[in-house]
Amino acid sequence: MLRTHTCGELRLEDVGKEVVLAGWLQRSRDLGGMTFIDLRDRYGLTQLAFNMETNATLCEQARGLGREYVLQVRGAVAERSNKNPKMPTGDIEIIVSEIVVLNPAQTPPFTIEENTDGGDELRMKYRYLDIRRNSVRRNLELRHKMAVETRNYLSDQGFLEVETPVLIKSTPEGARDFLVPSRIHEGQFYALPQSPQTFKQLLMVAGIDRYFQIVKCFRDEDLRADRQPEFTQIDCEMSFVTRDDVLEAFEGLGKHLFKKVKGIDNISFDRISYADAMKYYGSDKPDTRFGMRFVDLNALAQNKGFQVFDDAELVVGINAEGCADYTRKQLDELTDWVRRPQIGAKGLVYVKYNADGSFKSSVDKFFDAAQLAGWAEAFGARPGDLMLILAGETNATQKALGELRLEMGKRLGLRDPNTFACLWVVEFPLLEWDEEAQRFFAMHHPFTSPLPEDAALLSTDPGKVRANAYDMVINGVEIGGGSIRIFDWTLQEKMFEVLGFSPEEAQNQFGFLLNAFRYGAPPHGGIAFGFDRWCALFGGSDSIRDFIAFPKNNAARDVMIDSPSPVDVKQLDELHLRLKGL
Ligand code: ASP
Repeated sequence: MLRTHTCGELRLEDVGKEVVLAGWLQRSRDLGGMTFIDLRDRYGLTQLAFNMETNATLCEQARGLGREYVLQVRGAVAERSNKNPKMPTGDIEIIVSEIVVLNPAQTPPFTIEENTDGGDELRMKYRYLDIRRNSVRRNLELRHKMAVETRNYLSDQGFLEVETPVLIKSTPEGARDFLVPSRIHEGQFYALPQSPQTFKQLLMVAGIDRYFQIVKCFRDEDLRADRQPEFTQIDCEMSFVTRDDVLEAFEGLGKHLFKKVKGIDNISFDRISYADAMKYYGSDKPDTRFGMRFVDLNALAQNKGFQVFDDAELVVGINAEGCADYTRKQLDELTDWVRRPQIGAKGLVYVKYNADGSFKSSVDKFFDAAQLAGWAEAFGARPGDLMLILAGETNATQKALGELRLEMGKRLGLRDPNTFACLWVVEFPLLEWDEEAQRFFAMHHPFTSPLPEDAALLSTDPGKVRANAYDMVINGVEIGGGSIRIFDWTLQEKMFEVLGFSPEEAQNQFGFLLNAFRYGAPPHGGIAFGFDRWCALFGGSDSIRDFIAFPKNNAARDVMIDSPSPVDVKQLDELHLRLKGL
């Protein structure tokens, strides 16, 4: 080895030792008689000391070294006179006797510090320099730990990690596929997997009754902040299970990761139906770190002469505790906030329950104090609280109020990244009607089974059928989702029919699965977790990019290797992709 110790390792006990360190020059300080260099590697920083009086040549040499030079130094560990309690190695320094420049470096385009001066795009272009920064490296360490603990836990539970292919077959359901042209088979294409869904189900037919895989998936979706065209799932499937068996197995994984990675022991998982999640939180992934549940005011507020409420399908509100002292300006600003196109509410009604017990509302003309007191009771509001009310078409109003609830939660400091609220959302609708296509789409995917008690509705009222599907939600983030699958091929064929597939189309696209189901498919179900997202959540960040070593930017480009990029005409020819006549 070119070193005897790392830069994060030496302590007071090591004083007097002769050591060799290697690393990057983080920073140097020239104090006239003395020069100090902080040497950095993956493990930390160690201060190197050079004394002009005792070794002028070496000191001069040290002064000539630039940032990010790769150095090897030999020297003796000494106690520092000026200790730095903020650094693990802050009690010692190395009195250097020899420096070898292993490699000089150009000045980096941004400072390699915790608070760097480099903007996003620049850091992505030089991601290998960005990763030298503690915060980015720590994120990769967290990701590694998550992966190791996931493998340990699932393997201990009897899950087998099986790799599934990356070059597969395109299916038009779900998101858009990335296609890979075949050179050998002219005019034919592979697709990159959006998930190993059908393969894991085939593994269940194959008798591998507990499968998992930490696996790359690919979706060619439209650009949105914090979307990556390639991302990683913890993909899982189990045979001979009911929904509750699956939920329990993966609560176990959740608890294990909380304990091993976050050191948190007291995690529990609540359950809520999709219908209740929408009704009380206006979201299918509610943030339950705080309450502020919706209160339906239809019975109390309609037919009292206020047109806006009377015309609405739903009048619904939240109670913001302690906000009765909001000023006119704050309320106007909140009204503008809900009116933004992203939120889409027409207006906002407020009722202040003043500290002295009186009411002041934006609808005082229509409702007297006794009526408002009735509302306050429904909200469980106390003097000092502020009730915020929206009205309109049910779905849109619930969603808008859901956004307002999150915003108020944020403003009131109720969304602490170090508090965790875990939840299963269950009983999603099986199908979603698409106005444009005039057909149903599977809300989860076409292999999800209906709840047994709703199965008969599939022929009569498909829109009403609830799915045996579930999402794991932590702090308002959808961490994973899955379902109990259809394992009876006649029901699977029926499902394709409801989704508008002709029997030939179903056979063409999914024949391999339908056929396999004829050879003894066990009842099965599973789930897939967004691994990048889970890492980001545990790392206290909103951005999955921070937890991917070499991510793509918001325009789906890798700006470091400059991809996607044009290719040689010769390559296009081999792939039969060149337009004839060019
Ligand atoms: N394959 C599904 C997905 O990627 C998850 C599952 O149903 O297991 O969303």
